[in-house]
Order: sequence, then C-alpha cells, then structure tokens
Amino acid sequence: MSEIKSINPYNGKLIDTFQTHTKEEIGRILTNADRRFRSWRETTFEHRTKLMHTVALELRNNKEQYASQITYEMGKPISQAIAEVEKCAWVCDYYAGNARQQLTNEVIATDAKKSYVSFEPMGVILAVMPWNYPFWQVFRFAAPALMAGNVGVLKHASNVFGSALNIEKVFLRAGFPEYCFTSLLVEKEKVKEIIENPVVKAVTLTGSGPAGASVAKTAGENIKKTVLELGGNNALIVLKDCDMEATLETCLQARFQNTGQSCIAGKRLLLDEAIADEFLSRLVRKVKKLKSGDPRDPDTYIGTLAREDLAEELEFQVQKSIHMGGTLETGGKRSGAYFEPTIVSGVTSDMPMFSEETFGPALSVTTFSTIDEAIALSNRSKFGLGVSIFTGDEEAAQNWIHQFEEGAVFINELVKSDPRLPFGGIKESGYGRELSAHGIKEFVNRKTVYIK
Ligand code: NAP
Repeated sequence: MSEIKSINPYNGKLIDTFQTHTKEEIGRILTNADRRFRSWRETTFEHRTKLMHTVALELRNNKEQYASQITYEMGKPISQAIAEVEKCAWVCDYYAGNARQQLTNEVIATDAKKSYVSFEPMGVILAVMPWNYPFWQVFRFAAPALMAGNVGVLKHASNVFGSALNIEKVFLRAGFPEYCFTSLLVEKEKVKEIIENPVVKAVTLTGSGPAGASVAKTAGENIKKTVLELGGNNALIVLKDCDMEATLETCLQARFQNTGQSCIAGKRLLLDEAIADEFLSRLVRKVKKLKSGDPRDPDTYIGTLAREDLAEELEFQVQKSIHMGGTLETGGKRSGAYFEPTIVSGVTSDMPMFSEETFGPALSVTTFSTIDEAIALSNRSKFGLGVSIFTGDEEAAQNWIHQFEEGAVFINELVKSDPRLPFGGIKESGYGRELSAHGIKEFVNRKTVYIK
C-alpha cells in the first residue's frame, strides 16, 4: 500500500491523500466484480435502462458538486466542468434508450432453419483512464459496457482519484449493485497484474502512446481484447472561401477549450496563404481576450494545466519551435502550472509544435497555397484522430475526405465526440471505437447461432 496525494494545480494545495489498494484488496475486488457479472448479465434491459436513466438524473441533480471535484483536482474551469458532467448524463440517457436495439440479435439468412448473431457480455472490463476529462472519459466507456451486461473496474489517473471515487458513488447512488462499477486506487505499475488476472476479459485505455503500448503488450501476451484511444494532432484547415468570423470562433474553441488539454483539439492551424494575414491578426486579438484566472470563477475560460510538469513540457515545445524559426504572435509565458494562451506562426513540420502533440493552450500556424499541400501537411503526423476543414464549398470538401488518414473528418465544425457517432483514431491514435452502436459492440461476444 502507498499514499497518493491529490494536489490542486491552481494553488498547489493538498486536497486529499489516498491509500492505494493492496495486492489482496485488488484480488478481492476483481473476484467480487466477477461474481457480480454472473448476476448482472442475467438482468433485463428494462432493469438496466431504468438504472442508467437514474445515473443521468444523479449527475444532473448534483452537477455542481461533481464538477467542483473535477475543478479542484485538475484545474478545469468550473463552467466547462459542469458541461462535462452534463455530457456524461447525455451518454447515459443515450445508451439507456438505445442499447437494447443496438444489441438485438442480427438474423442472417443461410441454409439453416434459423441463424443469427447474438451479442453477449464478456465479463469484467478494465478501463485505464486519463485526467483531462475525468468524468467523460469514464462514462463514455461505462454507460455502454454496463448496458451490454458487462461490469467495469476503473484505474483512473493518479491525480484524479477523488473523481474516480465520485464516479463509483454515482453508480451506487443510482441503485447499481455493488461491484458493477468499481474504482481501483492503484499506481500504473499495478495495471499489468490486473490485466493478467483471469477474471479480467478485456481492457480499454485512453491516454498516451507509451501507456497504450504497455497495456496492449500485456493484453496481447494474455490474448485479451483492447481498445486504445491515444493522442492526436488534429489539423484545422482554413480555406480562403470560409465564413471567416464563424471559423475564427470555432478554431478558438477547438484549440483553447479545456485549456487545450484534449486529444481531439485542433493543434495545427493550416491557413490558406490568401487570407493568412487577416485571419491570424483577428485570431490573435480573440486569443488575447480569453479570460484566464481562478478555475472556480464561472467566467474563467483558461485554467491552469493539470500539473506543473505538463506546463513545463509545453513551454519546452513552444520555446524550441521559436528557437527553430517560429514567430511568437501572443503568449508564451508560464507561471507554475499556468501557461498563457499562445500562438506561434511560421511553424514548419520539423518543429515540435507540428511534429509532436502539444497538450495545452498553444496553437501552431502553417500556411499553404493549394488544397493538395494542405492535405499533405495534415497527413504529415504519426497521429490520425481527426481533421476539420473550413470552406464555403462543402461539395468540393466531400471529395477530399477519403484522402485524410484520420478516424474523423468534420467540415465547418471542430472535431467533437457525440454519443450517437463512433469515436476513435487510426495510426498512433489507436484502434477500436467508442460511442454509438459501434462502441457498445467492442466489448461483446458476437456469438454465431445456427439451428438446422
Ligand atoms: P497517460 O500518462 O498515458 O495516462 C493515462 C492513464 O494511463 C492514467 O491512468 C495513467 O496512470 C495510466 N498509465 C500511464 N502509463 C501507464 C503504463 N505504462 N501502464 C499502464 N497504465 C499507464 O496520459 P495522460 O498524460 O494522463 O493523458 C494525456 C494523453 O491522453 C494525451 O496523449 C492525449 O491525447 C491522450 N488522450 C486521448 C484521448 C482519446 O480519446 N483518444 C482522450 C483524452 C486523452 P497514472 O496516472 O497513474 O500514471
């Protein structure tokens, strides 16, 4: 057993101290989760639906309280934390309303009297989750997994253990039986032995590439299924025929919401050189107006980063890009875990702000002269999560979609997750899908049934 400290990144104060679970406690929790699975899988969709709608209600009724915990633990501005909790309620209602139909037997005509595919739960699913959306990342896994008849165990990021315990509480308060959803308070070093435990049937991880590779390695050695949602380096491609004011507002949100700590944030702005000067100067003016400050203030838009070391890493990427020839348009300074909203123009593909993921409020700007050049720049990334194209010619844009090496293409909109649409990446952004009918089928046994 060891102690994990939760520190408020805004003021550096200690929020709480958590004792991690011992080896014996982990074993006991997993055994109980497996036992719970055997009864939970027998429950009806009506029963699960009722409970999942109650989870949504519990979240909405106590959104300020849950949001405050998020804000304290990882510095997210409170208005955005409340929006995150509301979105979790949405995904619960979505799966409560749709899981049954999504998992209906799929009848396939063959020479049999009857043949079909049934979708059956797998058992205990381990979720390894990051701190950037401490509630949303977990609920978008848990709502479909539990509706499908699985049970979940969570290893949350160690700076948001308070949120992890709150999520467990949400399910219990809504009436879910014990061990349907349990938080394991463990360090990352314990993940290997959890995956190796025979009762764990599959793993989903949202986080960085190295964490994904490590989890996939252990899961592979044990022949267990994985879904990986990893990093991203999305481009925002802005063409000269776009609606400039609307595009400016969308790009601002795409990069700076959640203080830039989002896998699907638009990190690389690719600007048509015909409008580059005007677009950039208007964008810089807007960025300067973003309100930084105490994340508990409802008017704050830019909070601190979740940890000081993350701000230091971002500072290094920005400074190095400037040293290599980029031009600082605004921002660039760090104070503790706070990093000013920043724009660097003249960024080339060898600079860290282009070639690496920047996980904070810093936008790189690169210009192009043709759409082919823009597509090539967008694809010049090891990641493949999503891309946004801003143009007045939707039809032309639709003809380019197949050329993007991405899990998602959004036209005149920022890349965003929506319970109704599949979410996930290709290349080093991972594999598998969350959300929608695609997501709920990741952790089911597609059982073929043939009756002669
Ligand atoms: P991280 O360091 O990979 O941590 C994510 C989770 O994995 C945490 O629970 C962490 O535990 C655990 N972990 C880390 N190394 C591990 C290992 N070797 N074995 C097992 N578990 C391990 O990532 P982060 O810095 O928290 O989050 C930022 C990254 O997540 C970014 O790259 C971002 O793009 C990505 N992300 C992707 C998505 C998506 O949907 N594609 C969404 C959000 C974020 P500890 O906290 O104990 O280290």
